[in-house]
Amino acid sequence: MSERFEAVLITRDEEKKQRVSFVEMGEDELMPGDVTIAVEATTVNYKDGLAITGKAPVIRRFPMIPGVDLAGTVVRSNHPEWKEGDKVVLNGWGLGETHYGAYAGRARVSGDWLVPLPEGMSVHDAMAVGTAGYTAMLAIMALERHGITPDRGPVIVTGAAGGVGSVAIALLSRLGYHIVASTGRTAETEYLKYLGASEIISREELAGPARPLGKERWAGGIDAVGSHTLANVLSMTSYGGAVAACGLAQGMDLPATVAPFILRGVSLLGIDSVMAPKPPRLEAWQRIGTELDHARLAALTSTISFRDIPKAAEDIIAGKVRGRLVVKM
Ligand code: NDP
Repeated sequence: MSERFEAVLITRDEEKKQRVSFVEMGEDELMPGDVTIAVEATTVNYKDGLAITGKAPVIRRFPMIPGVDLAGTVVRSNHPEWKEGDKVVLNGWGLGETHYGAYAGRARVSGDWLVPLPEGMSVHDAMAVGTAGYTAMLAIMALERHGITPDRGPVIVTGAAGGVGSVAIALLSRLGYHIVASTGRTAETEYLKYLGASEIISREELAGPARPLGKERWAGGIDAVGSHTLANVLSMTSYGGAVAACGLAQGMDLPATVAPFILRGVSLLGIDSVMAPKPPRLEAWQRIGTELDHARLAALTSTISFRDIPKAAEDIIAGKVRGRLVVKM
């Protein structure tokens, strides 16, 4: 008999108005895939907030089960790499956008999308990291490829108290970087210092229109914010430095000049987690498993229940979520 489970379902009416409900579903209603997973933990990322609130067209097929990240146990597999009982993690690949996602007791997906749960991590830990944390590691790997080592100078992290920002700080600190954390929540100074930030600056300093070139303040950056903030970060990056851009919390625009690129040889490194090929995914997760401090991960994580997902979606878009959220199934 087909297993029954609870799911979040987003539907859209003729006037394109979205409706979010909790429904009971059966495995036979899931979309095709060669691996079925018992979802044991998930999370709420900024993108999930956009999908559930309908603030941006993240969902490209209705109805949709949202949720871009999951961790759980394989219950059935026709894929050569996976067998019943394997612990797995899935981030992106259209999950919760074009393919039924994580906010359900079961998920049926392509085995090609899965990575093994890193050794020493629980499903809860994996979702405390989630897409936000795995993206932070992809950004660090990009900076390293560009030669941005701790001896080159400070690294700025914007949106510091958010998910990408918090995990980026914890990881960079472990790797020995001097971190400048930019935040709109200076009340979180103690939290950011505990994670490993050396200096805290106000979000306001970077929020307005950027000069073509500013004082050289950092060798590298991880930017989760976009818009004027990214333009300012670039204009204050020192000669030969690099900035990894992964987010748009302030905006999708980039009101910058080419001055940092052509006068200081600064590089802008684009980070995409959704379609990232398997080798960098595996490397990122393997490194997270060994390089992320467990106490700091616990400090940046809050746990919520399945029924709290819609409220958490509103909160993350309002910039009220500190660090990362894990949804217990
Ligand atoms: P969070 O909401 O957890 O973090 C975003 C942070 O940005 C907030 O906590 C806040 O930090 C800051 N912020 C919010 N609004 C503004 C604003 N108007 N101006 C300046 N700063 C602002 O989200 P996530 O960490 O999950 O994601 C961060 C970004 O990265 C999102 O845009 C997301 O879409 C993107 N992302 C991209 C991925 C990719 O593959 N490229 C993957 C994962 C995420 P503070 O309070 O400290 O100022």
